[in-house]
Amino acid sequence: MKRVVSLMLSLLLICCSCGKTNEATEQFFSMDTVMTMKADGQNAADALLLAKQKIYELEGLFSVTREDSEIYALNRDGRAELSYDTQKIIERALEMKDMTGGAFDIMLRPVSKLWGFTEGTPRIPGKDELYAAVQKYKSSTLTVSGSAAICSGEIDLGGIAKGYAASCVRDILTQNGVESAVVSLGGNVMLRGARKDGSPWQVGIAHPKKKDELIGVLQAEDCAVVTSGGYERSFEQNGVTYHHIIDPETGYPSQSGIISATVVAADDTMADALSTALFVMGKERAESLWRTVGGFEMILITDSEIIVTDGLDFSPQDNAFSVCKLEK
Ligand code: AMP
Ligand code: MG
Repeated sequence: MKRVVSLMLSLLLICCSCGKTNEATEQFFSMDTVMTMKADGQNAADALLLAKQKIYELEGLFSVTREDSEIYALNRDGRAELSYDTQKIIERALEMKDMTGGAFDIMLRPVSKLWGFTEGTPRIPGKDELYAAVQKYKSSTLTVSGSAAICSGEIDLGGIAKGYAASCVRDILTQNGVESAVVSLGGNVMLRGARKDGSPWQVGIAHPKKKDELIGVLQAEDCAVVTSGGYERSFEQNGVTYHHIIDPETGYPSQSGIISATVVAADDTMADALSTALFVMGKERAESLWRTVGGFEMILITDSEIIVTDGLDFSPQDNAFSVCKLEK
C-alpha cells in the first residue's frame, strides 16, 4: 500500500502544475486502491464530487467480495438482475475476451479465488483443487439477456472495473465542461485534454523491478494510460514469486516474459482489460494484436528490454534495459 501511495504522489507531482482559481482535487480509497483526481475548470469541484460518488456506486455493484454487490449475488445464486453499468461492463469484458483470444477472461474467478490475492490471503493452491477449478472455469457459461444474467461459473471484474470507472469519470467531466484533468485510479490513469497551459501531461511509468522508482516518462493527452504488473500484488515462496495475473490456459500466474504491460488508448475500458491481457499474451502475441487489430499503443517490459510502439512519446530512464521501437 505504501508503494501505491508514493507512486500516486510521484504521479501527481509529475502530472500537475500548481493551479489557482478553478483547480480541484480529490483523493480517496476505493476498489482496493488509492484514487487521485485533479481537474481544472469552472465546474471542476462539482464534477470531481460526482465522479467520486459514481466510483463508490460502481464499487458497490462490481465488488467480488462485498456481499451486497450484484456480482456477489450472481456468483452465489447463478442468476441476478443487473443494473445498466453491470450489463455494460460485462458486455465490454466479453468483447475484450474475443479481441484477446481468451487471454482476458472475467470467468476466471474459480481459479483466481484459489490464489487468494483479492481476499488478501495469497497462497499456492494444491494441484488437484487447481485442476478442478480450471475445469470448472473452462466449462462455465454466462448469458446476459437485457438485465437478466445467468452464470454457471463465477466472474471477477478486477481486471477491467477501474477502466470502466475511468470511462464514467471521463463522461462526467465532459458533461460538466471540464477540459483539463488527470485521474489516477491505481494503475489506471485517465487524461482529459492537455494541461491547462496546453502542454501534454507527463505520466510516470512504475519501474517493475525497483520499488518506488520510474522506468520512464510518457507524454500524452486525452487518453487512457494503464499499466499491469506482476509486482503490484505478489508473494514469494521457496524462492519463487507468484503474482495475481493468471494465465487462463494453465491456471497459474502468467509467465509470458512480460513483467509490465502499459496500454495507451482512447478507450479507458479497453486499455484496462488489454493491459492485463498483454501481460498474459507475451511479446509476440501482443505485437501481432497491435499490428492486426490495433486501436492502442503499448510499452512492454521484459527482464532486459523495453518494447515501445511508434505512436508513443516515451523517455526511458534506466539504461540497464535495451529499447526496441516497434514500427507499423
Ligand atoms: P489488472 O491489475 O488490471 O491487470 O488486473 C488484475 C486483476 O484481474 C487480478 O487481481 C484478478 O482479479 C483479475 N485477473 C487476473 N488474471 C486475469 C485474466 N487473465 N483475465 C481477466 N482478469 C484477470
Ligand atoms: Mg486491467
